[in-house]
Amino acid sequence: MVANEFLNIVGTLNETKKIVVIGHIMPDGDDISSVLSLSLGLKKLGKEILSSIDWKIPGYFHEIDEVKHIRNYDEIDVYGFNPDVIVVVDASSPDRVGRFSEVLKDFKVIVIDHHATNTYFGDINWVDPTFGATAQMVLRINKELQVEYDERLALVNLMGIETDTGFFKYSNADERVFNDAAYLISLGARPDVIARMILENKRLEQFKLLSRMIDNLKLECDGKIAYSFLSKEDYEEFNCTDEDSGGFVSEIRAIKGVEIAIFFYEYVKGEVHISFRSKEWFDVSKIAFSLGGGGHPRAAGVTINGNIEDIIKEVIKLTKATFSAQR
Ligand code: AMP
Ligand code: MN
Ligand code: MN
Repeated sequence: MVANEFLNIVGTLNETKKIVVIGHIMPDGDDISSVLSLSLGLKKLGKEILSSIDWKIPGYFHEIDEVKHIRNYDEIDVYGFNPDVIVVVDASSPDRVGRFSEVLKDFKVIVIDHHATNTYFGDINWVDPTFGATAQMVLRINKELQVEYDERLALVNLMGIETDTGFFKYSNADERVFNDAAYLISLGARPDVIARMILENKRLEQFKLLSRMIDNLKLECDGKIAYSFLSKEDYEEFNCTDEDSGGFVSEIRAIKGVEIAIFFYEYVKGEVHISFRSKEWFDVSKIAFSLGGGGHPRAAGVTINGNIEDIIKEVIKLTKATFSAQR
């Protein structure tokens, strides 16, 4: 069945001329892919597009040339541009779009997202947690708008599907994911190019940082919960940024017997981001949501201000209690 919101969004995009497409803070591959795929698609239809994310885009994504089209908040003037509509992709709530959250109230807003924790903050909201990636939803919008795909657009669109499914290995990698990927590959996308760019592009310093993270590792509840942290000082010691610890929480989850992996990192002093992952059954999005964040059952996150040691203590206590109750 085709969702009403889907047709409503396609109709609205068809009718409008000037569109701003934005993604979420701390952007990941799906976010960048969704912003770019929708922007490139709409440009092919002759629309005037501004694409923006209010955050620094991790360095390795710049190997995709099209990423330069995504502007920072400071580089664009939304009010001067005066769009007919702002499309927000892959963001579950207004606080996820950074400074754009203030701008949204002045324009018509479309939300396209796959987080179950979405707060439906747009005028039209197409939210469907059965999709592994928002990039799959953008693919459907582009198809319905009859956007012609070239090799580049196919590659950019595939990136989101590939990254949000952990390179096709998470439980969200279902038949539809493989069908969408196969379709984009048939149009010229190369999954290996994306995999190398993201997975095999590490600096030696990142391994030293990883080694520190492993030194800090602790286990709880008979090894079912594993967590670690990195402080501002750790990043400084190895001349690293938060970009360099991108895959660390997956390493924690990879430990045999672990169901819940938690990685705390403080890249800005006093600001602690917490990444939650689970392996098979525990719903980490509920914990993240109760702390003010959000995400998916197997991957969620939140940022909390305060002392990192206090935050770790509190969050581990909460996780242990919730784990014992859910088990
Ligand atoms: P991360 O651990 O930062 O990679 O995030 C894992 C998942 O949780 C992603 O789907 C994010 O979109 C989501 N997420 C992370 N931080 C937040 C937050 N502060 N609020 C809502 N969702 C978040
Ligand atoms: Mn995302
Ligand atoms: Mn996503």
